Parts: sequence; structure tokens; C-alpha cells
Amino acid sequence: MIMNHMPKKIVIIGAGAGGGISLSQLRRALSNEDVEITIIDQTGRTDFQPSYVFLALGEKKPEEISRDISQLNDSRVRAVKDTVISVDAANRVVKTSGGSYQYDYLIMSPGPSIDPSSLKGHEATHSVWTMEDSLRLRDAVKNFKGGNVLISVSTQWYKCPPVPWEMALLLDDYFRRKNIRDKVKITVAHPVSRPMEMYGPGLSEPFSKMLDDRNIEGIYGRRVSSVDAEKKRAIMDNGETVGFDLSIVAPPHLPPDFIKNNDDLRSPRGWAATNIRDFRNPKYEDVFAIGDVIAPTIQIGMAGVLAHFQADTVSSAIAEEIAGYPFMEYNKVAVCIIATGGSGVFSYCDLAGKLTDPKVKFPECRMIGNDPLFRFAHDLYEVNFLSSIYGSR
Ligand SMILES: Cc1cc2nc3c(=O)[nH]c(=O)nc-3n(C[C@H](O)[C@H](O)[C@H](O)COP(=O)(O)OP(=O)(O)OC[C@H]3O[C@@H](n4cnc5c(N)ncnc54)[C@H](O)[C@@H]3O)c2cc1C
Repeated sequence: MIMNHMPKKIVIIGAGAGGGISLSQLRRALSNEDVEITIIDQTGRTDFQPSYVFLALGEKKPEEISRDISQLNDSRVRAVKDTVISVDAANRVVKTSGGSYQYDYLIMSPGPSIDPSSLKGHEATHSVWTMEDSLRLRDAVKNFKGGNVLISVSTQWYKCPPVPWEMALLLDDYFRRKNIRDKVKITVAHPVSRPMEMYGPGLSEPFSKMLDDRNIEGIYGRRVSSVDAEKKRAIMDNGETVGFDLSIVAPPHLPPDFIKNNDDLRSPRGWAATNIRDFRNPKYEDVFAIGDVIAPTIQIGMAGVLAHFQADTVSSAIAEEIAGYPFMEYNKVAVCIIATGGSGVFSYCDLAGKLTDPKVKFPECRMIGNDPLFRFAHDLYEVNFLSSIYGSR
């Protein structure tokens, strides 16, 4: 008798934090199984995005914080540089600009679509939210001789909520080292009512003090709605204007088109539909969504550490079905190192209450530091993240 045994096909959209960690966990958990894993990424890279801030300060180079996905190819893994344009969940097909891919399981971790063009006047601003923008900012920071620095956001959802304040602290340190701090005014303008409010008083209070001590100003309850590029003025959502000589504004972060335009994949909030037990799509059990693309759905900030723990759960759910691997419950915590210059702070948040009870406003967070050890730990995590996906390749 001839057995017609087909390998299980797993497709992963996005080779960033969620997709990359899912791949590394699946490779390990299914090492003895007949599986074919296809990972598709439009940039063809995995970046350690938390280090974009150091690219912008000229402290790191792109090749140190990024890997080419072609290094992932082996007998069971196919890495494809291409853009996903649609998912047909009923027929289990992912369509890209260059082809189509059948799956038994689909993990979607494409992050948001970052679209500067939907911010009028964006060409007068800088950003630290993509590698290319961080490199452009590096040149502007290097040539900056003094004046007003405005750091702000244009949408409520953007990658890594602490970044505006982290960037302010890093620039404060950078300009002090260049001996021009007295010629620079640094202002953070943000929709929350106090620094890091979204993490509750455990982070907000010590952070506010640190910003005061470092002479960093704040405009709260405001975000940038457009920019007068010629006059170098940000127009805030209440109509007020803020002039700048250098501005860093998080560009609009929007749901990716292939999710936004698909009734099967979209949640009522417009981002990917999911659940916080095993991250399956409510209608299609073989479709999973994790990472930044579900942050607005589950109402928690966009952070790599969350994508990482979600990837652990999703890959264990798939490995459980294929090989009886033990299911790993979602670890509802976040740990984060925020660089403050030569030092850093370590924060820990318990998200369980915030994720499960709509009455809970903030996660339970604490922080320790400022300490040079945590700045060092930030670098260690970069090495650990990239090598957990790419090994020594
Ligand atoms: C400056 C900065 C600092 C940060 N600092 C921290 C930090 O200290 N701690 C922390 O936890 N998080 C931090 N983050 C956030 C963290 O990097 C993200 O939350 C994390 O990368 C999200 O993982 P993800 O898999 O959802 O998306 P991503 O890592 O962004 O990966 C998505 C991938 O999908 C690809 N993709 C998108 N659309 C398509 C498509 N249609 N077809 C094919 N491929 C597609 C993209 O090219 C991308 O490679 C920071 C982010 C930035 C920008």
C-alpha cells in the first residue's frame, strides 16, 4: 500500500519579532516532523528595531542590527522576499505580488503599515520608526547646531510607546556630550496627559522626574495632525502650532491593507482579529495573528516583547496539533529596557489585569535604574534576539 503523506505547510507573514520568533520555535519544536515552513517578508530583512534609536545617534551600523532572510533557507524553511497582497482564508491561500502559497497553518505578524504620506508636511519631519528614516535622522542629528527639537506622534498607535521619551533622553545625553545642550530645547508633545501615563504611576512618576531633571519639556494631551513644511511648524490636533528646527514625529501607523480589506481577518477596530488565549482568528482556526497588528485589537501597546511571548504561544499551539507538543499559555507580562544615554532603566509590567478586565486602565508596572548595566543589557538582548532566529549563520 502506498501512503500519500503530505508535509504540513506553515506560512508566516513577516520576519520581524513575531514572525522570526515563531519560526525559531517551530523549527525547534517540529525538528522531527515533516513540515514545510515559508516565511514571507517584504523587506527581506529581520531588524532589531529597538536599536534604530542607536542608528539615529550614529552608535550602531545597519549590519549590526539586521539580518537578511535568505540566511534562513534550508531543507524545511523557504524565505521569500515579497509583499503579501491578500489572504483567502476559506481556501487557505496567501497571495503575494509574485506568487501564491497554500497553507495548513498561517501566522500573520506583519506589524503596522507605516505611512508617512498620510501626514501632510511629513517631508519636514524625521522619524526613528524605520531603518531608512533612522539613517536619515542620523545625518540631521550630526549636523544639528542648536534650536528647538520637537518629538511627537501623529497617531495613537505607534511602535513602542516609550520611544518619544527615550529619544528625548538620548538626545539630551548626545547634545550634552557635544557640549551644545545649552543651545537646544527638547520638547515631547504627546496625546497622554503625563509622561508614560499608559503604564500607570509605577513608570509615569519616576519618568516624569527624570525628564524634569534632564530639562526636557512636555506638551501633553496633544499630537501632531499636520506639518507646515515651509515654516517648520507642527500643527497640533487642537490647532495650536509648535515651531521646530528638528522634529521627530512617529508617522501614521495603519492596519496593513491585506487585513484592513478582508472581512475575515479584520476585527471591529480595523486591525487583525484574534483572541488572547491562542491568537487564532475567530472564524478560521488555522489562521493566527500576533504582534503589533493585534495591539489595537487587544488594546495594549505595540512592543516586541509582546510579539515574542505571543509567538511562543502560537508556535506551541501549532506544534501541539502536529506533534502533541505541550501548549504554552500566553505569558501576559512585558519587560523592557529603555535607554537613557550611557545608562538605562529596566521596566516590568504585569498585563493580566489590563488584558482581561476592561475596567482596568493601566498594566501594573515597576521600574528600576537608571544604571549603565541596563544599557549593556539592551545590547545583549539585540545579540540574543538575532541569534535566536539566525543562530550563527
Ligand atoms: C525605535 C523603536 C524602538 C523600539 N523599542 C522597543 C523596545 O525597547 N522593546 C520592545 O519590546 N519593543 C520595541 N519596539 C517595538 C518592536 O520592535 C515591535 O513591537 C516589534 O518588532 C513588533 O513585531 P511584529 O512581528 O509585530 O512586527 P515587525 O517586527 O515590524 O515585523 C513585521 C514584518 O512584516 C513585514 N511585512 C509587513 N507587511 C508585509 C506584507 N504585506 N508582506 C510581507 N511582509 C510584510 C515587515 O517588512 C516586517 O519585517 C521598538 C520599535 C521601534 C521602531
